[in-house]
Amino acid sequence: MDGCVFCAIAAGTIPADVVFQDGHVVAFRDLHPVAPFHVLVIPRIHRSSLADAVDADADLLGRLMLAAARVAREAGFEKTGYRTIVNTGADAGQTVLHLHVHVLAGRQLSWP
Ligand code: 5GP
Ligand code: ZN
Repeated sequence: MDGCVFCAIAAGTIPADVVFQDGHVVAFRDLHPVAPFHVLVIPRIHRSSLADAVDADADLLGRLMLAAARVAREAGFEKTGYRTIVNTGADAGQTVLHLHVHVLAGRQLSWP
């Protein structure tokens, strides 16, 4: 989508520190990490948020989660743990309107 920063990262027109990509998803390091390991996993196609996902996106949503698990595993966090977060909408603090999964690891995370 024109003007979407994550579409531009997926297209390679804006640089990013990509840690994994395939034909469906791209995973790259967050510009402003809040944990020692902070990666964002996005679909290549534009969806503004999880609220925009439809039944036909079921496979894609699964791929996002599998990619999140993969980058965490490959970075060595399978045993110590990691957190996956999808912020949706204003009250959740979503700032980039292209669906993304945060993967946080490398420190003890508080809850909620
Ligand atoms: P949200 O608050 O929407 O859930 O998360 C958006 C995330 O995208 C933030 O953690 C922010 O640091 C990250 N971000 C915003 N713009 C860019 C960018 O151009 N490159 C990268 N790598 N991360 C970005
Ligand atoms: Zn987009």
